Amino acid sequence: MTQNIPAHGSNIARKDINEIYKWKIDDLYADKESWQAAAQNLKAELSRFEEFKGRLGDAEILLQALQKQAQLSEEISKIYAYARLQLDADNADPALQAMSGETESLLADFNNAVSFVEPEIISLSKDYLESCLAESSFNEFKFYLANLLRLAPHVLPQEQEALLSQASLAMSAPAAIFRSLVSADMEFPPVTDGKGNTANVSEGNYLLNMTSADRTLRKNSFRTLMGTYHNYRNTLANTLTGQCRVSRFYATAHKYEDTLTASLAEDNIPTELYHKLIETVHNNLEPLHEYIAIKKAALKLDELHPYDLYMPLSSAGESFACTFEEACERVAEALAPLGEDYISTLKHAFKSRWIDIYENKGKRSGAYSWGIYGVHPYVLLNYQPRYNSISTIAHEMGHAMHSYLANQAQTYTNSDYSIFCAEVASTTNEILLLEHTLANATAEQKIYLINQFLEAVRTTVYRQVQFAEFELYTHGEINAGRSLQAKNLENYWLESNKTYYGPALTADKELASEWSRIPHFYTPFYVYKYATGYSAATTFAEAILSGKENAVEKYLGFLKAGGSDYSLNILKNAGVDLTTPQPVAVTLQKFAQKVQELKTLLKL
Ligand SMILES: [Zn+2]
Repeated sequence: MTQNIPAHGSNIARKDINEIYKWKIDDLYADKESWQAAAQNLKAELSRFEEFKGRLGDAEILLQALQKQAQLSEEISKIYAYARLQLDADNADPALQAMSGETESLLADFNNAVSFVEPEIISLSKDYLESCLAESSFNEFKFYLANLLRLAPHVLPQEQEALLSQASLAMSAPAAIFRSLVSADMEFPPVTDGKGNTANVSEGNYLLNMTSADRTLRKNSFRTLMGTYHNYRNTLANTLTGQCRVSRFYATAHKYEDTLTASLAEDNIPTELYHKLIETVHNNLEPLHEYIAIKKAALKLDELHPYDLYMPLSSAGESFACTFEEACERVAEALAPLGEDYISTLKHAFKSRWIDIYENKGKRSGAYSWGIYGVHPYVLLNYQPRYNSISTIAHEMGHAMHSYLANQAQTYTNSDYSIFCAEVASTTNEILLLEHTLANATAEQKIYLINQFLEAVRTTVYRQVQFAEFELYTHGEINAGRSLQAKNLENYWLESNKTYYGPALTADKELASEWSRIPHFYTPFYVYKYATGYSAATTFAEAILSGKENAVEKYLGFLKAGGSDYSLNILKNAGVDLTTPQPVAVTLQKFAQKVQELKTLLKL
């Protein structure tokens, strides 16, 4: 089945890959000369942008400035993408490195040139801005301006903001120290595997080691990695204390009650949603406990340790092997419930070289989708004949279709969807593919697929909410005027794992150090978005597959809305109300149901 996959891999030069398998970069600019001309032109436009400065109090000038800013932003995004996409496909090419360097500085020039716009708008009177909002000529910028007005009470007078930004480099020290300690200075001693050979463990390969069938390797990797973090526990408690204090300082300086309120205000999310999310997950821990117990039984272990958690219950992923073209067919079949228009655009994307399919020498690993307004999205893949890779096509095309449909329906200013909504379309597609594949799978393949789903919910919903809850604890300590003590953090973390995973997990003492290796804790109150995004996707997929009235139209409405409103409103209009426990509950009920299916399949 796999003999039709063309030559590719880390040893094949990009020039030796057939053009038909590479994305069509000249859809952006006909050639390098046109790109250079566009960059030159942009530079000249940027130097003229200053003429708007100090004049935004005139409604006509304000409108012109906003239109010009949008136009320049659209152009710089294209110029930037042209260089970066090519570099990502061939990162050792010095000419591409130079082009990319040029665009980085052009981007900095752009940001610099428009930097006065938002502070100046915020300094204008509320009455004036509201009178602009009432004009139909401002329609395109209504949401943008309304959002600025909403945040205005939290912006300080210019002199004070300038003082805060002078301090920002020093304020970034806790996160910078964390990063350099864990990614440069920290050394993880070599470990021994089950055959007595020496193996390495690092943050780079930890997860890979955790899925190895060699339990000794897993155990030693776990103990060594956690043990190394443990050696630095006081330093790491201090870097985290520092980060939490910095965040609190900025939050209160900007007149927010606390860091949680400030962080959620960016997306206009009420803090109640955050607390409700944790509460709903706590009310649904039983299915996770049962899943862990099933895993323990399926892996035939007397004790299930943290280093057994990531072990897959089936290796049937490779039994789905097929060519890229067949994989695209399967994805299109699975997404058919989304309607003919969606599928015909999807097939057009497959045929029209939006996608860079195979690995080549110097190409970046992984996958992404990059939506470009006025052109089309570009999708980077490293296709391999196995289930995960097919699922990646569904995932990335979810992003691509989201960008494409939003770009078609919205003006540039309103097109870009928020991070809060970013993983919804991709995950919805993944779930639709999984359900479609399950319908025709063998028993062994079903075990594999259900395990994929359960692991996704475990790591994206349960685990991220566990992190979210930990953040309430750490920031709560700081709010109360205390510093974070390593001992308390360790105790908290171990107890939290016992609560989440239940009695089937043997919570080794080494697990207590895990809190200290999570980089996301240096971006406060961010991880909860993984759980809300996943839950929104599950709710969409359930509604679509169960044939709920207007479910497809509503979902397509969500995609087309792009960034034209607050995320919660866009989702609510599409039938997913995250201010209620329902989407998270639906997800965890689906989890519970799949746990039972798995139990039956495993004959436990
Ligand atoms: Zn994604």
